[in-house]
Parts: sequence; structure tokens; C-alpha cells
Amino acid sequence: MDKTLDEPRGANPPVAFISHAACRLHQMSPGHPEQPARVSVIAEELRTRGLHDFLAHYEAPRATDDQLARAHPATYVEYIRAKAPAAGLEALDPDTAMCPDTLEAALRAAGANVLAVDLVMSGRARRAFCNVRPPGHHAERSRAMGFCFFNNVAVGAAHALERHGLERVAILDFDVHLGNGTEDIFRDDARVLLCSLYQYPLYPDMNPPSVPGRIVNCPLPGGSGSEAFRAAVTQHWLPALEAFAPQMIFVSAGFDAHASDPLAELELTTDDYAWITDTACAVADRHAGGRLVSTLEGGYDLAALAASGATHVERLMAGATS
Ligand SMILES: [Zn+2]
Repeated sequence: MDKTLDEPRGANPPVAFISHAACRLHQMSPGHPEQPARVSVIAEELRTRGLHDFLAHYEAPRATDDQLARAHPATYVEYIRAKAPAAGLEALDPDTAMCPDTLEAALRAAGANVLAVDLVMSGRARRAFCNVRPPGHHAERSRAMGFCFFNNVAVGAAHALERHGLERVAILDFDVHLGNGTEDIFRDDARVLLCSLYQYPLYPDMNPPSVPGRIVNCPLPGGSGSEAFRAAVTQHWLPALEAFAPQMIFVSAGFDAHASDPLAELELTTDDYAWITDTACAVADRHAGGRLVSTLEGGYDLAALAASGATHVERLMAGATS
């Protein structure tokens, strides 16, 4: 039994907020939209709202090779380690590069998810938010792409399945881009229900078919807005979630579908992020004993990211003691 699981459970467990200083050091080219300030502005907005002190703060550990190996082949993990530069930038694809601090940040971002699962499974936290970067949902089993190196949410979900013996977990991905990496890793795993909603056409220019009861892909054209977003969740995600009855919910929380985001045109509002968070928490409460782990993915307008990310965490906190 992990040491973290031996500690007593609180009657009203808090929401865990997991991050690491290394997540603010990883930096790609100057002006890259996936920038260090992304994690800082969410934490700062939570302070402004007076919520920061009511979260249980944890420093993200490094994911171990064994934990990463549940989502990525050992040869891929070795490849990422070998590519880490001592100085300068090492480009892995046209928009994904490593600086000397990237490996540490990527290991902490994946490790945050492992800790989040342990905290939530042990009852020390009812829900958790991983305020980490680099993001993860584009990282396939053996391919870094789209600002992502290790698939953080996949590492967490695999930990819940393999270490904690869960039989059904659901991953809800509302980032504006398709989480092709998460789908690559879990497409053939019947223990995982993957619900995605994304703008299409848009990067990564993939629109794979849904698989009944296993993968629910909801492509939306640019300009769709709140009504279409909420309708897709209500009509497609929720019936699949009710039928699957997940024992734990994971959220790939990208905020780049916001109307202010420079990379996409899905035109959501901060209220939509409150709504989807409440919706996810309600599913977790109905089926999963409230267990929910959310992780930052995209979101590139800093003001919209701060407001949306903090609202997401605020809504995670709202039901935490109910
Ligand atoms: Zn995105």
C-alpha cells in the first residue's frame, strides 16, 4: 500500500490543487502560445477570488518510468529523455520543442495525475485539479506533438486502472482540439469511455469515428457557440456516461474553446465552463462516489484562461463538501 493511502480520510475532504515550479520553467520559442504564464494566471485568479487558501496544495511528484510505461512504450520514454537538451531548444515537431527544463516539467505534469488519483482514491481529496504544463492530450503512445510530450491524463487513468484496480473510468475532453493522443492510447481499451468535443476542421485535422459505448466524438464547426456545445454534451456524452457508469471521472480541461482564444473559433463563454464542470461533477456524484480528477490542457488567451480555469476550480470546490 502506498504511504499516501495510509493516512486517515477527512469527513469533508478538500479539493486538491497540484502543481510544480518546473511547470513555469518549460518554455518553447519566444512568443509561443503555450507559455509559462498559463499556470500562473489561474493560481493568481484563485488568489484574487479568495479561494486559493481553501484548496489543499500539493507539489507534483515526478512520474516514474513504470507509471509512464502504462501509457507509453519504454522506448518512447527513453527517446524523450535522450532528446532533452542541455541548452537551447530541441524541436520534436514543428510546434513542440524541449528546453533544458522541459523533461522535469513533463515528468511533474504526468506525476501530478498519479498523485491526484492516489489522493482521490484514498479519500484525502474528493476532487483534484492539476495546474500543470506541458499539456498532454495530443501525446500519442509513441509521438510527441501539439505542445505535448507525455499524456498526463492517460498516465493518471492508467494508474487508476492498474494500481487501484478500477474497471471503468471515463475521460471527458472539452479542449477545443481533438485529444488524439488519449484516443490513440485507449482506443482499444474497453475499461475507458472517452468523450470528446472539439472544433473540426482544426488541428490535429483528425475526426475519427465514434465507437458505441466506448468513444463519443462530437466535432463542431467553428462558430458553434454555447448552445451547440451544451446540446452535444447533453445528447451524446450524458447517455453514454449513464450507460457506462464510470467509477472515476477524468477531465482534460482545455479552455481554448473560449470566444477570446486566438487558436480556435468555438465561441464558448466562462459560464459554459461552469456548466460543464457542474455537469461532470454531477456524473461523478451519481456513479463514481464524487471521484474526479481534472487536468489543464489548452487555453491561450491569458485573461480568458484565468477566468475560465478559476471558475472551473471554483465549481469543483462548490460541491466538494455537499
Ligand atoms: Zn487545445
